[in-house]
Formats: sequence, C-alpha cells, structure tokens
Amino acid sequence: MSRSEEMSRRAREVIPSGVSSPVRHYDPYPFFAVRSQGSRIWDADGRDLVDLCNGYGAMLLGHRHPDVVAAVADQLDRGTLFCVPTEAETEVSGLLRGNYPSMEMSRMVNTGGEATMTAIRLARGYTGRPKIVTFEGGYHGAHDSVLVRAGSGSAHLGVPASAGGLDEVSGQTLVAGYNDLDGLASLLESREDVAAVIMEPVMANMGLIPPEKGFLEGVRRLTGRRDILLIFDEVVTGFRMSPGGAQQHYRIRPDLTTLAKALGNGFAAAAIGGRREIMEMLAPGGNVYQASTFAGNPVAAAAAAASIRTINRLAGTIYPDMERTCRGVAAAIQDMAGDLHIPHVVHQESSMMQVFFTEGAVRDYRTARQSDRRRFSRLFGGLLERGVFVPPSQYETVFFSAATTPDEDVGLITEAYRGSLGSLGT
Ligand code: PLP
Repeated sequence: MSRSEEMSRRAREVIPSGVSSPVRHYDPYPFFAVRSQGSRIWDADGRDLVDLCNGYGAMLLGHRHPDVVAAVADQLDRGTLFCVPTEAETEVSGLLRGNYPSMEMSRMVNTGGEATMTAIRLARGYTGRPKIVTFEGGYHGAHDSVLVRAGSGSAHLGVPASAGGLDEVSGQTLVAGYNDLDGLASLLESREDVAAVIMEPVMANMGLIPPEKGFLEGVRRLTGRRDILLIFDEVVTGFRMSPGGAQQHYRIRPDLTTLAKALGNGFAAAAIGGRREIMEMLAPGGNVYQASTFAGNPVAAAAAAASIRTINRLAGTIYPDMERTCRGVAAAIQDMAGDLHIPHVVHQESSMMQVFFTEGAVRDYRTARQSDRRRFSRLFGGLLERGVFVPPSQYETVFFSAATTPDEDVGLITEAYRGSLGSLGT
C-alpha cells in the first residue's frame, strides 16, 4: 500500500471523506502532499509532480516565493495576531487601490466566500433591495445565497444546491445564463427588487469560459442603468489576468470587487472593496455588519502586501511569460487531440486553460455540461500517473504559475498530455 493510500484510510476515519474541502477527493484516493517548491509538489511517496492546480489559482508566483516567505517569516518573529489595527492593513488597502482603482476603500477578510458574503450584504444594505443575480455555473463560495442552482419550475428562481440550504434564501437569488445578455436584460426588465449582479468576469468554475465580445460591457450598462450594483468576483481572476485583474484587462469598473487566492499567494488572505460611499456603510461607521477575529491578521496582511509588491515589480515579465507558456501548451493539446480525432474544445485565457471533451462551442453552463466528464477523469488519472497534477474536475481550471518553467516543466506537461490523450481512445 502506498503512503498516500495509508494516510487516506486513516484520514477517512476522522475526516468526512478524508478531505477538508470536497474537490480534493477523487477515486480511489487522493495523493497526500508533504512539501512544495516553485512549480512542484512532492507527495508522501516521494514523487515530484508538476503542479498545474496551483492552489486553484492561489499560487500565482509559485510555491514558497522567497519574497512572500521572507515577509511572513519576518512577521512571525514580531507576532501573529493582535486584534488591533496594524499598519500592514493600511498598506494592503493602499496597494489594492493602486492596482484596482475601483476599490476606493477595502477591508481584508480571510476567504473568498467571506468576501462575497460581505459584498452581497453590502449591496442589499446600500440599495435596500433583497434580490441578487448570479450566472448559472458560477461559484462564489459555500454560503446559502450563492450555493444555488437554477430551479426547473420558475425560469430564473434559484433553489438550494445543497441539502440544508433554505428555499427562503435561495429564492432571493435569481439565476441568469452566462454570455446571454438578452436573457439578463429581460430578467432585469420586469424587476425593481435587484440589489446586485455578482459574477466571475471569466467563468473559472465550470471549466474555463471567457466572456463573449461585449458581454461584460453589456452587463455593466444594464446594471448601471438600473442602479443595480455590479460585483466582480475576482477571487480567481484578481492578479491572475493582470495586476489589476479582469477589470483592468477588460476595462470595466465594477461597484464592488472581491479578491482572495493570488492576493495571499498561499496564505488565507481575501478582500472586499469598492466605491467609498458603499464601503463606508460597513460597521461600526455604517450599519452593515461584517466582522472576523482573523480579518486583516498580520500574517495574512504581510503575505498580501509582499505578494502585491512582488507582482507589481515583476509584472512586465511574468504576465507575458505565463501567458506564452499557457498558450503554447493549450495549442499543443489542441493539435494532439485533433490528430487523435478526439472531440475537444480548448479554452485559454492569460495563464488559465481547460480542455472540454465535446464537439460544440462551450459558452455557458448548459454547453459545458455536454462535455464527456468520464473521459476527463481518465485524462486526469493519466496526467497524474505521468507526473502532472491538474485539478481533478472537468469544472475546474488549469493554472500556470510564474514558476512553471518553459523548458523542463512544459516538456513534461506536453508529454504527459500526449501520453494521456493517446490512451483515451476516440
Ligand atoms: N469566488 C470564486 C470565483 C471562487 O473560485 C471561489 C473558490 O474557488 C470562491 C469565490 C470562494 O473562495 P474561498 O474558497 O476562499 O472561500
């Protein structure tokens, strides 16, 4: 029995399914990690894997980036939690305002889910309206307002996507189709009760699906016209698509923004920010409540400040390099799958990509669901066997980091895809 198998058996005795978050489980058991460096993770059996999961996008600079590690080590020497303000929080919010001009004010929180929960409450508090709109297949965290799927009866009313979720909460969430501007327009047309539209500017939780030309601009126009707040959930795209996220890339100014993942480059750092008049509604100055013992803790703030400073310093090289590397691998997969006559669609956007095993265009949740998920699972297993770790689910995204090397890693990645695709059959 491998060490990972043994560890997984023991974990399952005391942890539900043996994992702390569901996507980490896959059959027959997940590998257990013991350490990481740069572009690699080592498993409990001594195997060294090229990491293309990269903390689901968090490890933008790669594992254990020296600047981030040094900043955190320095903070560990000085204290880990004070629960009074520190200057580092002001520094992070100042840096965020520099990179994301729409984030005139911000607060640090711990996770992406906490950031979106706060954004939604703020939008309701500011507008005095109850409903929010999400896009089908989007993911904004594991809380009731957004853990919602489109109901089958009423065209757009959400229903809980999890047992234990309340219809009363999900019913306040309306579900629209991504890349369907007319659908969103008709949904909003008849309503006066919508506080906000919350969206991933690029969908990264149903595989990777970019916005079609004019879609984001259209959403901005439709919401602006009705004083509905536009919340960009940039938990994935923030710092990933550019130092100023998707909003810089597509030149769209949302009212509120949520960040996590790459903000802390491996530490639990997240933020919610936006227009000053909205953000000033947060307690104690305002009447929208948000609080956490660990919000803005010094270790997370040190990691975030170091991550942002490093990203800004290296932006001129890391973004073009990551994009070139990712584009090259995506093109190679396209060619290999084509040569093998495997029906496929490959999407790539900056340093993110995903392959769907389907023939038609993938532009929303419905078309993403056409993809052959069993075939994807076999691809995942084949890649892992060949030393490359991608997220185990078709509905996740493959992430490159600034540490992915264009020669050795890319050679390994390309050969792993070649071998795995070759063993799939048509
Ligand atoms: N928003 C998006 C777009 C995400 O991808 C995720 C997590 O994957 C979240 C929010 C939730 O973030 P967290 O897992 O830090 O709560």
